[in-house]
This record gives sequence, structure tokens and C-alpha cells, in this order.
Amino acid sequence: MVTRNEILGILGDYRDLAVVTVCSHSSLQLFHGARQEGFRTIGIAVGNKPPKFYDAFPRAKPDEFFLVDSYDEILDRADELVAKNAVAVPHGSFVEYMGAKNFLKLRLPTFGNRRVLSWESDREKQREWLEGAGVDMPKRFRRPSDIDRPVFVKYYGAKGGKGAFIAKTEKEFRAAIKPGQKYTIQEYVVGTRYYVHYFYSPLLEDGYRLSRGSLEMLGIDRRDEANIDEMYKLGAQESLREYGLYPTFVVTGNVPVVLRESLLPTAFEMGERVVEASLDLFGGMVGPFCLETIVTDRLRFKVFEISTRIVAGTNLFISGSPYSDLREAGMSTGRRIAREIRLAQKEDRLGEILS
Ligand code: ATP
Repeated sequence: MVTRNEILGILGDYRDLAVVTVCSHSSLQLFHGARQEGFRTIGIAVGNKPPKFYDAFPRAKPDEFFLVDSYDEILDRADELVAKNAVAVPHGSFVEYMGAKNFLKLRLPTFGNRRVLSWESDREKQREWLEGAGVDMPKRFRRPSDIDRPVFVKYYGAKGGKGAFIAKTEKEFRAAIKPGQKYTIQEYVVGTRYYVHYFYSPLLEDGYRLSRGSLEMLGIDRRDEANIDEMYKLGAQESLREYGLYPTFVVTGNVPVVLRESLLPTAFEMGERVVEASLDLFGGMVGPFCLETIVTDRLRFKVFEISTRIVAGTNLFISGSPYSDLREAGMSTGRRIAREIRLAQKEDRLGEILS
């Protein structure tokens, strides 16, 4: 893993910062937000010519493209990005495409604390962190033979729901599981899904205060998931299997939602506990994170996953959200990240938010 001193050394020579990210996921929002805060922007794209779709969105088109043959190449060409005084802003696809191991080796100042990755990408460690923080999670089944109710099975890593499936018995589990991949089995929670977008600033000392810094809520979404969301219209899953139709959870888009206002205090307490636990465990997460939750009919939150960087659901709120507007109108998560970098730069505290 790249060391803190190496990153501090690189930052020592930085002057006019640029924001760089991979051209996918939430890049439009990130480039737009960075530009609003006065940063130059660089988009990493695979191929021999820039992706055309940015031409349709001039306010979110990066100032410059950095073309690579494959995502692996980013690691070897990091020096070129350093020469451009670039700060990387990771998103789910950036980390997934490069691979978490390579991402940890990237010799480029990166927004957030990269130590969070080992706690997030291993589902056992993620549970240790979240449950240790006092957050309620779906029950875990250690062995397939323990399955005694509907369960949800998913593989390690952020796959946008790909490959995940529901099983009601051990037999169904055995029929669907792909060999050779790490997985986790959770109780299938019946309720409404809310993906809550938080932002933790170690720098700000106003608003919703934590032991250090403060916590913001920038929005909430729910995901559209390929065919599972609509399949019920055709009847029971068992009979659909006879026709070769299997439900999938692959994300295809996002819809905005708001929570019952009486649930907001709990949502904040959950975010607060997760940040405080992260400060104790690995020096704290920085910036955006998302608690992926299901609210049951008893109005209890079950957190089935944490994403510790910008999530694509924030793309809904490029012009602000019903929550972020109550702090500052028009504040997207992408812009909020850029604002944090700007603030740290002004206060000479970049080392606290980059790693
Ligand atoms: P991401 O890219 O967000 O990390 P992922 O591949 O890691 O996705 P999850 O987000 O954990 O997968 O789950 C995918 C979807 O499966 C969720 O959006 C939700 O609809 C559903 N889901 C996950 N866990 C549960 C659960 N315990 N009970 C019911 N549904 C669940």
C-alpha cells in the first residue's frame, strides 16, 4: 500500500489542483461539481478516443481526457497524473475496475482514507465494523445447512447487485451458488429499501457535530433493479423458473425518495455511530458514504451494506436534494467533495482528507 508519507511528499509539490476520476458511475456529477468549485478536471477513459456522450453534457465534460488501454495501466501511469497535480476521486467503478489491491497501491493523492477499503470489501470485517457500531444488520447464516427461511446470497465486492440471489432452502442455495467465489448469506429482509447518502467532514465544526468534525445528509435514493422489481407482476417465482426466468438485482437506475421525518433522527444516529467506530478502527472514513438499508413495518432500519465513497444514487441530486438544500442550495455530493478539497487546501489540511 502506498504510504502516507509518500502521498504527503507528492502533495508538497502540488499547486493548481485538478480532480481526476474514471469516466463512469458518477463522473458527470463529479466533474460538474469540481468545476463549480473552480478545479480543472481530468477524465480517465479506456480506448483510443474520448467517450462521445460527454459532448451532450458540456457543463460536466472534463477539461481533459486521459486515455488508457486498460484500467491496470492507471497504476503504471500515475506519475503522469501527479505531474498534472491531480487528486483522484474514487467511485464504485473506479475501485472495482482497477481492483481493490491495485487501488491501494496507486501513487496518487486520493480523496478519502484508503484504509477503509479493507473494512468494506471483506463482508465479515464490514459486519464487525457496523455491528460494533451498534447498527442493526440482517441475520447472517454461517453455513448453507443453517438456512431455515428466505435468505439473500451475495458475493464479495461492489457488483451493483450482479449475481445475488434469493434462496429459501439449502437445495435452492446449492442450485444457484457459483463455485470458487466468496459469498455471504443473509436473512432476506422484507421492507422498503432506502439508500441514505451521508457526508462526513473531519474539517467542519458546525451543523450535526461528531466527536471530531460533522455529519451531513445529502440525499436518499432507491434503486431500480433489472427485473426483480417488476417480476411480481407475472406471478410467483417458482413457476417463473419453469420458463427459465430468474430474478436479478442488477442495478439499472435510481429513484429519489424521502424518509418519514420521524425516521431522520435514527438515520443520523446510525451515520454518527458508523463514523465514530471508523475513527476508532482505522482513523476514520472521510467524505461521502452510503448506508444501504431496509426499513421494516416496525419502522426498524436493517443495514445490509455500507458503501464508503460516492454512490451512483447521488446522481439524482446534481442540483441539490430535499436534504442538502436545507444546508446550501444546489449542493451535490460531487460538489461537496470538491468543496472539502478546496477547504482543506485553504487551511493547509489536505493531508487530513487525502490518502
Ligand atoms: P453494490 O454495488 O451496491 O455494492 P452489491 O453487489 O454489493 O451492490 P448489495 O447492494 O449488497 O449488492 O445488494 C444488492 C441488492 O440486493 C440490494 O440493492 C437490495 O435490493 C438487495 N438486498 C441485499 N441484501 C438484502 C437483504 N438482506 N434482504 C433483502 N434484500 C437485500
